[in-house]
Amino acid sequence: MNILFVSSEVVPFAKTGGLADVIGALPEALSKRGHTCSVILPLYKCVKENGFDPALFKEEKDFKFYFLKHGNVNIYFIESDEYYNRDQLYGIPQGDYPDNALRFGFFAKAIVALIPHIGRQDIIHCNDWQTGLVPLYIRLFHKKDSLFSDTKTLFTIHNMAYQGLFGREYMRRLNIPGKLFNMHGLEFYGRMSFLKAGIIYSDAISSVSKGYAREILTKELGCGLDGLLNTRKKALYGIVNGVDYSVWNPETDKFIAKKYSARDMGGKLECKKDVLGEYGIKYDPSRPLIGMITRLAEQKGIDIVADCMDKLLELGIDLALLGFGDEKYNNIFKGLSEKYKGHVGARIGFDNVLAHKIEAGSDMFLMPSRYEPCGLNQLYSMKYATVPVVRAVGGLDDTVEDFDPVTKKGNGFKFQEAYGEALLASMKKAVEVFKNKDLWNTLLQNGLSCDYSWAASAEKYEKLYNEFVKII
Ligand code: ADP
Repeated sequence: MNILFVSSEVVPFAKTGGLADVIGALPEALSKRGHTCSVILPLYKCVKENGFDPALFKEEKDFKFYFLKHGNVNIYFIESDEYYNRDQLYGIPQGDYPDNALRFGFFAKAIVALIPHIGRQDIIHCNDWQTGLVPLYIRLFHKKDSLFSDTKTLFTIHNMAYQGLFGREYMRRLNIPGKLFNMHGLEFYGRMSFLKAGIIYSDAISSVSKGYAREILTKELGCGLDGLLNTRKKALYGIVNGVDYSVWNPETDKFIAKKYSARDMGGKLECKKDVLGEYGIKYDPSRPLIGMITRLAEQKGIDIVADCMDKLLELGIDLALLGFGDEKYNNIFKGLSEKYKGHVGARIGFDNVLAHKIEAGSDMFLMPSRYEPCGLNQLYSMKYATVPVVRAVGGLDDTVEDFDPVTKKGNGFKFQEAYGEALLASMKKAVEVFKNKDLWNTLLQNGLSCDYSWAASAEKYEKLYNEFVKII
């Protein structure tokens, strides 16, 4: 198949979160299965800063396309200095860029304009609200065009809460017929929704774990679109994300202080000392180091951590946090690292190298998310012999099994409620097991033996593409 991935972020060119990791790995995994895979993303300022220099591919009146080959995958970039030559992808800590509707509307138009140059695609795999207009433009304006008539679109929701909501006036500016502005069309409580466009006009929809695919059908986590999604339930699938073990693997990781493996974990201690050094925390073998790498947003439950920091420290732990996001939480965590200097460190910013160091150097990894479509760091953690402590929700619930010291089964610790008491109870259990070295090693080995490589998930996507290429 010819498969085209459309995404607003892709590793190693541009990243703010897990979406970039997924689109950085899935196309390569599918190309290994014999498919021709291409990816399109905006030519952000950071692409050059990350050391890439794509070549001019095609120039049209309204669009300029760039290209490079990365592994087996064709990567196309859409250039627009006006829209993409900025310091961030979507906005600054004080808020989103005000012209995001135009930035990603332009992106969708450019994608449709690129296809005649790269040839017919069997599948156009769109991701999140930023690409929601792609299925709409194809269905409304190109379905009779032989280049698109057999193409199927899959729309993957990586996070239901980010919907791309904009004023009604953008309907006209984005060439979308005004009659579609109603509750059965693109309207969402008086605004137009890019996410709704993706859900309504794609041939099939998926999300990034079975658990989250179920949860978004409910009032609690459907973010106001559970009704619409229920009408498309038959076309909704859940496929868990994989891990790119060529990037996240302590045996080969070039960013960590010392490499180690499941057979020889000697290097992990050096990695821990390295992280402690970064954060100005003194090494004490009796104190487990808890790592957190996260967008600082309420979704991630970081307010719960902030609120119970006193009690967390009473359990005899140290905490190394790396995060970036809402200004409010940037400041709260800066404050906490001052207040608890020597035991809590917070680095506010985006730092891929430090993220690898934390995965390797921590004893546990905390993810108290309110909701979590898939979550990747719990999977990375298992590979780095770092025990995930997570809230039982979405992909975290699907992938982490609570450790039972009696049966010695389980690969982490899990709690149910999004409250400090539940988090503390789970962490207390984890700290107790940490003190029993034999039991702890069993737990580490349980995590290390889990295989979340992309191969299995890529096969599921392939099956899904095959299924709806035939039936729709
Ligand atoms: P989400 O996509 O909701 O942010 P995921 O768990 O799916 O959450 O993916 C997060 C990805 O982004 C992981 O690869 C994580 O290591 C990375 N990440 C998040 N915040 C930072 C940061 N401040 N610095 C470096 N990497 C980060």
